Amino acid sequence: MPFGKCPTCGQGEIFKYPLSNVAHFADMHSNCPVCGVSFEPEPGFYFGAMYITYAFNIVILIAFGLSIYYLVALPEIMYLILIASVAVVTTPFSFRVSRVLWLYWFGGLQRKEEQKP
Ligand SMILES: [Zn+2]
Repeated sequence: MPFGKCPTCGQGEIFKYPLSNVAHFADMHSNCPVCGVSFEPEPGFYFGAMYITYAFNIVILIAFGLSIYYLVALPEIMYLILIASVAVVTTPFSFRVSRVLWLYWFGGLQRKEEQKP
């Protein structure tokens, strides 16, 4: 599975800009630029992807929080600032991963080779 590509043709980009363009990390194509399949099967389709983002953030923040807690001795406020910073920095990544997973799992799109004639 090529990451961030259309589930149907495997070539069209789901997102308009690369992840390095942080200001537009959430901009998606409404349809695949290659095969034209819709990336939003129904209104509010990506609402459920929020739960994947939530799970990602919980795992990342607990792992990071426990790591720095046991590795370095800091005042409590510094732990909060560091954990909040990691949450902000990883937001574009977890946002995209959760939307791509949601589209692949629940989008109802099939690879062209797998579709019945
Ligand atoms: Zn496509």
